[in-house]
Amino acid sequence: MKVIKSIDETLFVEFDDENANTTISGVPVMFMSKKTMSSLCMGMIGALGKGARPLLYTSGYNAGCKSAPVVIKQWDCKNLDERLKATIQQFARYGWLLLKEVTLSEDGNEITCKVEKSFESLAYNRKSETSVCYFLEGFLCGYMEIVFNKKNLVCEETTCQAQGDAFCQFVIKRKFWKE
Ligand SMILES: [Zn+2]
Repeated sequence: MKVIKSIDETLFVEFDDENANTTISGVPVMFMSKKTMSSLCMGMIGALGKGARPLLYTSGYNAGCKSAPVVIKQWDCKNLDERLKATIQQFARYGWLLLKEVTLSEDGNEITCKVEKSFESLAYNRKSETSVCYFLEGFLCGYMEIVFNKKNLVCEETTCQAQGDAFCQFVIKRKFWKE
């Protein structure tokens, strides 16, 4: 696996000012303050309640499915260990969250992700009455399906820093019972 040397190399960023187009690893992106993104998610949940979850989850899932192959290719990952290491450093470098731990259960059916400082939880100042990281539930599900080479998974956030928990925990399981 490659090792990070400089900020440009880390972000694989290219600017095209003529066309207001910035790309990271060839993917067009836009920069936005963490607070704006966090408030946007909070506003959506404020307006739609639990109805915001499928919306955020689905867009997160689709983004996760698209992101994982880019990271794996960019860091030239050869195995699961390298894929996870690249993932941990990319999440932190992009300012999304700290991925503290990823564990696979002994039977191989459950992936647990322990996360701190998720951008979705920040705006709540630990005062939410529910977990709130719906976009990340979807994102981690789609992303880990590719990293672990599994299909039809579903993710649920079981603890959340937005409601005062020590960390956000995401449990990713099979969507259907084994036949
Ligand atoms: Zn959370």
